[in-house]
Amino acid sequence: MELLVDSYGRRIKSLRISITDKCNFRCTYCMPAEGLPWLKKAEILSYEEIERIARVAISIGIEQIRLTGGEPLVRRDIPELVRQLRKIEGLRSLSLTTNGILLKQQAGALAEAGLTRINVSLDSLVREKFAKLTRRDQLARVLEGLEELERYPTIHPIKVNAVAIKDYSEEEVLDFVRLARRKAYVMRWIEFMPLDADQIWRKEDILTGRYTFSDGIGEVGFINPVSEPFCATCDRIRLTADGQLRTCLFATEETDLRAILRSNASDEDLAKAIRQAIWNKELKHYIGDKRFKRANRSMSMIGG
Ligand code: SAM
Repeated sequence: MELLVDSYGRRIKSLRISITDKCNFRCTYCMPAEGLPWLKKAEILSYEEIERIARVAISIGIEQIRLTGGEPLVRRDIPELVRQLRKIEGLRSLSLTTNGILLKQQAGALAEAGLTRINVSLDSLVREKFAKLTRRDQLARVLEGLEELERYPTIHPIKVNAVAIKDYSEEEVLDFVRLARRKAYVMRWIEFMPLDADQIWRKEDILTGRYTFSDGIGEVGFINPVSEPFCATCDRIRLTADGQLRTCLFATEETDLRAILRSNASDEDLAKAIRQAIWNKELKHYIGDKRFKRANRSMSMIGG
């Protein structure tokens, strides 16, 4: 089989699938307080359509799938989608990115359906800070969700991701590190990126740096897509909830896989479109450069 590579020789292995644009949080760095104009049901890919795209993508070389959103756990019956995806031969890893608020109820069903990895987004361990940032006073439920996850060792590792925001995150770095020492969590900070709907991002808000510790059961790390871009090793593509394939978080163009799917195209047609989009994958994002153009969608509409 031909390798799935782009025109710069990067081997593409990972597909992030957004299954909804809706979210039950309103994080200030992502969505306006009143939400966004949501997609209509007919615009969103059905589970059958997602499964088909996933199957075709895996047949040509994708190995890892991550489900995201919006908040993926607000979509009904997600364990059923997990179960269907797990059946696809060639899939090596199936993970989920969630804000954790519905995990207490759903962790068991997700584990049973075959989810293998998870990322829980958590930006503050202080109730008031958390409530202000997410515009929801739900820290306790997220922590309960994380605890619940620990009962299902087949979901491993449990990664906890915090957005690193200058003058917001610093004071809690050690508390998060202590959490990762006590619990088997892999703790990571990800730089604030210019993907917020309200356009509040400023270069001055990013918090850069790298710290590690070794005497605990978890891990900590910083991921710095803005200050230390890793585009040269990017192996990722993204499918939005409305079926648009994006080959970079900051892409300004998309491939309309939904239109192809709904035009009675064959699997070969779909595969060809995916290969072609990948071939044209952007060299890099241009944050901090004159050439940088904001993407036409915010993170929640792309699928983070
Ligand atoms: N609702 C799920 C969650 O909270 O993990 C999945 C979707 S959310 C858009 C995915 C991740 O994107 C979250 O960790 C969130 O913190 C992150 N995110 C959203 N906007 C961001 C921005 N402007 N810069 C950096 N990360 C961002």
